[in-house]
Amino acid sequence: MTISHTAQEPDSGVRAEVMAHARAIAGEPPTPKLRSLVCPYCGAVTPDSGRCEKCAGRFDPLSRQATQNQMGPWEIRDERVPFRPGCSFATLVRLIEQGAVRGETVLRGPSTRQFWTQAKHTPGVANRLGVCHNCQAPVKPDAFSCPSCEASFEVERDRQHMGLGPARPLPGQGLPEVLALHAEPASVPGHGEIASSTIPIAASSPAKAQGASVTPVSDEESRKRVEDALRLVRFWRARADHDRKNAWAIIIISSLISIGALSYVVLGSGSGGKTASETGDAVE
Ligand SMILES: [Zn+2]
Ligand SMILES: [Zn+2]
Repeated sequence: MTISHTAQEPDSGVRAEVMAHARAIAGEPPTPKLRSLVCPYCGAVTPDSGRCEKCAGRFDPLSRQATQNQMGPWEIRDERVPFRPGCSFATLVRLIEQGAVRGETVLRGPSTRQFWTQAKHTPGVANRLGVCHNCQAPVKPDAFSCPSCEASFEVERDRQHMGLGPARPLPGQGLPEVLALHAEPASVPGHGEIASSTIPIAASSPAKAQGASVTPVSDEESRKRVEDALRLVRFWRARADHDRKNAWAIIIISSLISIGALSYVVLGSGSGGKTASETGDAVE
Protein backbone atom coordinates (compact mmCIF):
# COMPACT_ATOMS: atom_id res chain seq x y z
CA MET A 1 0.00 0.00 0.00
CA THR A 2 2.67 2.49 1.07
CA ILE A 3 4.76 1.69 -1.99
CA SER A 4 1.97 2.45 -4.49
CA HIS A 5 1.25 5.66 -2.61
CA THR A 6 4.89 6.76 -3.02
CA ALA A 7 4.85 5.91 -6.69
CA GLN A 8 1.88 8.17 -7.27
CA GLU A 9 3.44 11.11 -5.47
CA PRO A 10 6.98 11.82 -6.62
CA ASP A 11 7.48 14.15 -3.65
CA SER A 12 10.92 13.36 -2.20
CA GLY A 13 9.89 14.41 1.30
CA VAL A 14 7.07 11.90 1.37
CA ARG A 15 9.35 9.29 -0.15
CA ALA A 16 11.99 9.81 2.53
CA GLU A 17 9.34 9.59 5.21
CA VAL A 18 8.02 6.33 3.78
CA MET A 19 11.52 4.91 3.52
CA ALA A 20 12.20 5.82 7.15
CA HIS A 21 8.95 4.12 8.11
CA ALA A 22 9.89 1.01 6.13
CA ARG A 23 13.33 0.95 7.69
CA ALA A 24 11.77 1.09 11.13
CA ILE A 25 9.72 -1.98 10.29
CA ALA A 26 12.20 -4.06 8.20
CA GLY A 27 15.57 -2.82 9.45
CA GLU A 28 18.45 -1.52 7.35
CA PRO A 29 18.41 -2.76 3.73
CA PRO A 30 21.21 -5.33 3.15
CA THR A 31 24.26 -4.08 1.27
CA PRO A 32 24.38 -6.06 -2.02
CA LYS A 33 27.10 -8.74 -2.16
CA LEU A 34 28.66 -10.16 -5.33
CA ARG A 35 27.09 -13.48 -6.27
CA SER A 36 29.70 -16.20 -6.66
CA LEU A 37 29.83 -18.64 -9.55
CA VAL A 38 31.82 -21.59 -10.85
CA CYS A 39 34.49 -20.50 -13.30
CA PRO A 40 33.75 -22.21 -16.64
CA TYR A 41 37.47 -22.53 -17.39
CA CYS A 42 39.04 -23.79 -14.14
CA GLY A 43 36.03 -24.77 -12.01
CA ALA A 44 36.98 -22.54 -9.08
CA VAL A 45 34.17 -20.85 -7.14
CA THR A 46 34.81 -17.17 -7.66
CA PRO A 47 32.88 -13.89 -7.18
CA ASP A 48 30.93 -12.87 -10.26
CA SER A 49 33.10 -9.85 -10.96
CA GLY A 50 33.49 -10.58 -14.67
CA ARG A 51 36.83 -12.30 -14.19
CA CYS A 52 38.02 -15.47 -12.38
CA GLU A 53 40.08 -14.84 -9.24
CA LYS A 54 42.03 -18.07 -9.80
CA CYS A 55 42.75 -18.29 -13.54
CA ALA A 56 42.01 -14.69 -14.55
CA GLY A 57 39.68 -15.92 -17.31
CA ARG A 58 36.98 -13.45 -18.37
CA PHE A 59 33.32 -14.49 -18.31
CA ASP A 60 31.96 -12.41 -21.18
CA PRO A 61 30.46 -14.28 -24.17
CA LEU A 62 33.36 -13.45 -26.50
CA SER A 63 35.95 -14.83 -24.08
CA ARG A 64 33.85 -17.94 -23.59
CA GLN A 65 33.65 -18.43 -27.35
CA ALA A 66 37.40 -17.86 -27.76
CA THR A 67 38.09 -20.55 -25.13
CA GLN A 68 35.56 -22.89 -26.73
CA ASN A 69 37.31 -22.44 -30.09
CA GLN A 70 40.62 -23.53 -28.60
CA MET A 71 39.25 -26.53 -26.70
CA GLY A 72 40.07 -30.00 -27.90
CA PRO A 73 41.28 -33.49 -27.00
CA TRP A 74 44.90 -32.54 -26.12
CA GLU A 75 45.76 -31.99 -22.46
CA ILE A 76 49.02 -30.56 -21.24
CA ARG A 77 50.00 -31.51 -17.71
CA ASP A 78 50.74 -28.45 -15.62
CA GLU A 79 50.34 -28.48 -11.85
CA ARG A 80 49.97 -24.69 -11.79
CA VAL A 81 46.79 -24.95 -13.89
CA PRO A 82 45.57 -28.50 -13.23
CA PHE A 83 41.96 -27.79 -14.23
CA ARG A 84 42.61 -26.09 -17.51
CA PRO A 85 40.50 -27.53 -20.37
CA GLY A 86 42.12 -29.58 -23.13
CA CYS A 87 43.13 -27.86 -26.35
CA SER A 88 42.88 -28.50 -30.08
CA PHE A 89 45.85 -29.72 -32.12
CA ALA A 90 46.17 -26.28 -33.71
CA THR A 91 46.47 -24.73 -30.24
CA LEU A 92 49.04 -27.34 -29.25
CA VAL A 93 51.13 -26.55 -32.32
CA ARG A 94 50.98 -22.87 -31.44
CA LEU A 95 52.12 -23.63 -27.87
CA ILE A 96 55.04 -25.64 -29.29
CA GLU A 97 56.02 -22.75 -31.54
CA GLN A 98 55.85 -20.40 -28.56
CA GLY A 99 58.13 -22.72 -26.60
CA ALA A 100 55.46 -23.42 -23.98
CA VAL A 101 55.54 -27.16 -24.83
CA ARG A 102 58.95 -28.87 -24.95
CA GLY A 103 60.19 -32.42 -25.39
CA GLU A 104 59.87 -33.21 -21.67
CA THR A 105 56.37 -31.75 -21.38
CA VAL A 106 53.89 -34.43 -20.38
CA LEU A 107 50.70 -34.43 -22.43
CA ARG A 108 48.01 -36.71 -23.74
CA GLY A 109 45.76 -36.75 -26.77
CA PRO A 110 44.35 -38.84 -29.63
CA SER A 111 47.73 -40.24 -30.71
CA THR A 112 48.51 -41.47 -27.15
CA ARG A 113 45.00 -42.89 -26.69
CA GLN A 114 44.66 -40.35 -23.89
CA PHE A 115 47.49 -41.85 -21.83
CA TRP A 116 49.99 -39.34 -20.46
CA THR A 117 53.17 -39.36 -22.56
CA GLN A 118 56.19 -37.11 -22.99
CA ALA A 119 55.87 -34.79 -25.96
CA LYS A 120 59.06 -36.13 -27.54
CA HIS A 121 57.51 -39.63 -27.60
CA THR A 122 54.09 -38.52 -28.84
CA PRO A 123 53.28 -39.34 -32.48
CA GLY A 124 52.39 -36.25 -34.47
CA VAL A 125 53.76 -33.96 -31.75
CA ALA A 126 57.42 -34.94 -31.35
CA ASN A 127 58.16 -34.08 -35.00
CA ARG A 128 56.86 -30.56 -34.33
CA LEU A 129 59.66 -30.38 -31.75
CA GLY A 130 62.17 -31.55 -34.35
CA VAL A 131 62.53 -35.21 -33.36
CA CYS A 132 60.97 -38.50 -34.43
CA HIS A 133 58.70 -39.82 -31.66
CA ASN A 134 59.94 -43.35 -32.34
CA CYS A 135 63.70 -43.19 -32.97
CA GLN A 136 64.39 -39.63 -31.76
CA ALA A 137 66.22 -38.86 -35.01
CA PRO A 138 66.16 -35.15 -35.93
CA VAL A 139 63.35 -34.43 -38.39
CA LYS A 140 61.71 -31.43 -40.02
CA PRO A 141 58.67 -30.22 -38.07
CA ASP A 142 56.46 -30.44 -41.16
CA ALA A 143 57.68 -33.90 -42.26
CA PHE A 144 55.01 -36.56 -42.88
CA SER A 145 57.17 -39.47 -41.73
CA CYS A 146 60.59 -40.24 -40.31
CA PRO A 147 63.34 -40.62 -42.95
CA SER A 148 65.23 -42.98 -40.58
CA CYS A 149 62.57 -45.37 -39.27
CA GLU A 150 59.62 -44.45 -41.51
CA ALA A 151 57.31 -43.87 -38.55
CA SER A 152 54.25 -41.90 -39.62
CA PHE A 153 53.74 -38.42 -38.17
CA GLU A 154 50.11 -38.28 -39.21
CA VAL A 155 47.79 -37.15 -36.45
CA GLU A 156 44.04 -36.82 -35.96
CA ARG A 157 43.18 -33.12 -36.22
CA ASP A 158 39.45 -33.37 -35.57
CA ARG A 159 38.97 -31.54 -32.27
CA GLN A 160 36.00 -33.77 -31.37
CA HIS A 161 38.04 -36.96 -31.73
CA MET A 162 39.43 -38.32 -28.44
CA GLY A 163 41.30 -41.19 -30.09
CA LEU A 164 40.31 -43.78 -27.48
CA GLY A 165 40.97 -47.47 -28.11
CA PRO A 166 38.07 -49.97 -28.18
CA ALA A 167 36.52 -50.86 -24.80
CA ARG A 168 36.91 -54.52 -23.89
CA PRO A 169 35.51 -56.38 -20.84
CA LEU A 170 38.11 -57.23 -18.20
CA PRO A 171 38.60 -60.58 -16.44
CA GLY A 172 35.96 -60.91 -13.72
CA GLN A 173 33.46 -58.79 -15.63
CA GLY A 174 30.80 -60.70 -17.52
CA LEU A 175 30.52 -64.30 -18.76
CA PRO A 176 33.62 -66.20 -19.92
CA GLU A 177 32.08 -66.70 -23.38
CA VAL A 178 31.62 -62.95 -23.77
CA LEU A 179 35.16 -62.38 -22.55
CA ALA A 180 36.48 -64.88 -25.06
CA LEU A 181 34.52 -63.22 -27.86
CA HIS A 182 35.85 -59.77 -27.05
CA ALA A 183 39.38 -60.79 -26.14
CA GLU A 184 42.32 -59.14 -27.83
CA PRO A 185 43.60 -61.42 -30.60
CA ALA A 186 46.13 -63.63 -28.84
CA SER A 187 49.82 -63.02 -29.37
CA VAL A 188 50.25 -63.77 -33.03
CA PRO A 189 53.76 -65.08 -33.67
CA GLY A 190 55.75 -62.60 -35.71
CA HIS A 191 53.49 -59.73 -34.63
CA GLY A 192 55.29 -57.72 -31.97
CA GLU A 193 52.07 -56.26 -30.58
CA ILE A 194 51.51 -58.47 -27.55
CA ALA A 195 52.18 -55.76 -25.01
CA SER A 196 50.39 -52.97 -26.82
CA SER A 197 47.14 -53.32 -24.91
CA THR A 198 48.53 -54.09 -21.46
CA ILE A 199 51.43 -51.65 -21.24
CA PRO A 200 50.30 -48.96 -23.63
CA ILE A 201 52.72 -46.19 -22.65
CA ALA A 202 55.82 -48.28 -23.01
CA ALA A 203 54.63 -49.87 -26.21
CA SER A 204 52.76 -46.98 -27.78
CA SER A 205 55.72 -45.47 -29.54
CA PRO A 206 57.20 -48.62 -31.12
CA ALA A 207 53.75 -49.92 -31.97
CA LYS A 208 52.85 -46.66 -33.65
CA ALA A 209 56.28 -46.59 -35.23
CA GLN A 210 55.33 -49.35 -37.60
CA GLY A 211 52.99 -46.88 -39.18
CA ALA A 212 49.43 -45.90 -38.59
CA SER A 213 48.36 -48.60 -41.02
CA VAL A 214 49.33 -51.46 -38.68
CA THR A 215 46.92 -50.79 -35.82
CA PRO A 216 43.71 -50.43 -37.83
CA VAL A 217 44.38 -53.72 -39.62
CA SER A 218 44.67 -55.65 -36.34
CA ASP A 219 41.54 -53.90 -35.04
CA GLU A 220 39.75 -54.88 -38.24
CA GLU A 221 40.97 -58.45 -37.80
CA SER A 222 39.79 -58.72 -34.23
CA ARG A 223 36.40 -57.25 -35.15
CA LYS A 224 36.11 -59.85 -37.89
CA ARG A 225 36.90 -62.63 -35.42
CA VAL A 226 34.31 -61.37 -32.98
CA GLU A 227 31.74 -61.19 -35.75
CA ASP A 228 32.57 -64.73 -36.86
CA ALA A 229 32.25 -66.02 -33.31
CA LEU A 230 28.94 -64.22 -32.86
CA ARG A 231 27.66 -65.74 -36.09
CA LEU A 232 28.64 -69.20 -34.81
CA VAL A 233 26.83 -68.59 -31.52
CA ARG A 234 23.71 -67.48 -33.40
CA PHE A 235 23.91 -70.59 -35.60
CA TRP A 236 24.22 -72.90 -32.57
CA ARG A 237 21.34 -71.20 -30.85
CA ALA A 238 19.13 -71.53 -33.94
CA ARG A 239 20.04 -75.20 -34.29
CA ALA A 240 19.28 -75.87 -30.62
CA ASP A 241 15.85 -74.21 -31.07
CA HIS A 242 15.22 -76.30 -34.16
CA ASP A 243 16.21 -79.52 -32.34
CA ARG A 244 13.92 -78.65 -29.43
CA LYS A 245 10.98 -78.16 -31.84
CA ASN A 246 11.78 -81.49 -33.54
CA ALA A 247 11.84 -83.26 -30.18
CA TRP A 248 8.39 -81.88 -29.32
CA ALA A 249 7.00 -82.99 -32.68
CA ILE A 250 8.36 -86.52 -32.13
CA ILE A 251 6.87 -86.69 -28.62
CA ILE A 252 3.44 -85.57 -29.88
CA ILE A 253 3.45 -87.96 -32.85
CA SER A 254 4.57 -90.93 -30.75
CA SER A 255 1.92 -90.23 -28.11
CA LEU A 256 -0.74 -90.01 -30.85
CA ILE A 257 0.43 -93.37 -32.21
CA SER A 258 0.37 -95.01 -28.78
CA ILE A 259 -3.15 -93.62 -28.09
CA GLY A 260 -4.23 -94.95 -31.47
CA ALA A 261 -2.74 -98.35 -30.68
CA LEU A 262 -4.44 -98.40 -27.28
CA SER A 263 -7.80 -97.54 -28.82
CA TYR A 264 -7.30 -100.25 -31.41
CA VAL A 265 -6.63 -102.74 -28.62
CA VAL A 266 -9.75 -101.58 -26.76
CA LEU A 267 -11.77 -101.78 -30.01
CA GLY A 268 -10.37 -105.18 -30.86
CA SER A 269 -11.02 -106.60 -27.40
CA GLY A 270 -14.69 -106.04 -27.53
CA SER A 271 -17.54 -103.59 -27.23
CA GLY A 272 -18.88 -102.09 -30.51
CA GLY A 273 -18.43 -99.76 -33.52
CA LYS A 274 -19.92 -96.89 -31.50
CA THR A 275 -17.09 -96.76 -28.98
CA ALA A 276 -14.55 -97.14 -31.76
CA SER A 277 -15.74 -94.05 -33.64
CA GLU A 278 -15.88 -92.14 -30.34
CA THR A 279 -12.30 -93.03 -29.46
CA GLY A 280 -11.28 -92.20 -33.01
CA ASP A 281 -12.75 -88.70 -32.62
CA ALA A 282 -11.04 -88.32 -29.30
CA VAL A 283 -7.73 -89.21 -30.85
CA GLU A 284 -8.01 -86.53 -33.46
ZN1 LIG B 1 38.99 -19.79 -13.45
ZN1 LIG C 1 62.22 -42.30 -36.60
